[in-house]
Amino acid sequence: MLIVKDLHAKVEGKEILKGINLEVNPGEVHAIMGPNGSGKSTLANVLAGHENYEVTKGEVSFFGKDLLDMDADVRSKEGLFLSFQYPVEIPGVSMVNFLKTALNEHRKYRGKDELKAGDFLKLMKEKKELVEIDSQLTNRSVNEGFSGGEKKKNEIFQMAMLEPKLAILDETDSGLDIDALRIVAHGVNALKRPDNATIVVTHYQRLLDYIVPDFVHVLYNGRIVKSAGKELAFELEEKGYDWIKKEVGE
Ligand code: ADP
Ligand code: MG
Ligand code: MG
Repeated sequence: MLIVKDLHAKVEGKEILKGINLEVNPGEVHAIMGPNGSGKSTLANVLAGHENYEVTKGEVSFFGKDLLDMDADVRSKEGLFLSFQYPVEIPGVSMVNFLKTALNEHRKYRGKDELKAGDFLKLMKEKKELVEIDSQLTNRSVNEGFSGGEKKKNEIFQMAMLEPKLAILDETDSGLDIDALRIVAHGVNALKRPDNATIVVTHYQRLLDYIVPDFVHVLYNGRIVKSAGKELAFELEEKGYDWIKKEVGE
């Protein structure tokens, strides 16, 4: 599904990603962990096509196509989804219009007709229940005045509506209380299928009690310095990140 080879990227003229290698197959859940400032969000943003980030070296293929050659909207239509670490408020754009437009643009890209109004509302209702999002929220503008937890739930709601092939969740757990964390994890698990995959970016092991990863990677100083199974997350929880820094000689 996703093959990242020797990916280097700069932001504001500074090299942040220094040779990332990663392979994600359908049905897999990967966790990317690492200390603050190690480049986790940078990797997520580069994969999603954020224009502030300049790829200076490397390749990324997504279902055999050159991902780096695609605009951000095409990446989305090809089935890539990014849940933001800091979701933005979009005053004046209603949730309903936002989702209807996104969904229909995705359908158009696949040669499908627009969803009928009734079918769209039915789909919204079904997905809202999945993430237990308050009905009133979807009558408002995108994220406007939402609490931190509501914004994060709304990211998963959007993911549920768009049904991506590869979802990248950037610290969806940060700022969530334990109930919201369970709901978000339940939503992610409910959407898991043999033909899709998830990359969970997190600083803490807590979320991984609920979303069980097949692989855990430690990103440190712009490189994946260690990869293992889920037991690595427990080791990090217990020992912190300092031993990783020592292992890589810093
Ligand atoms: P993480 O998500 O692992 O905490 P980030 O990818 O957010 O790390 O940041 C990695 C490094 O890149 C940090 O040193 C951060 O200050 C820098 N960085 C990220 N985005 C920008 C930006 N837009 N402008 C300047 N520096 C940035
Ligand atoms: Mg951070
Ligand atoms: Mg981050």
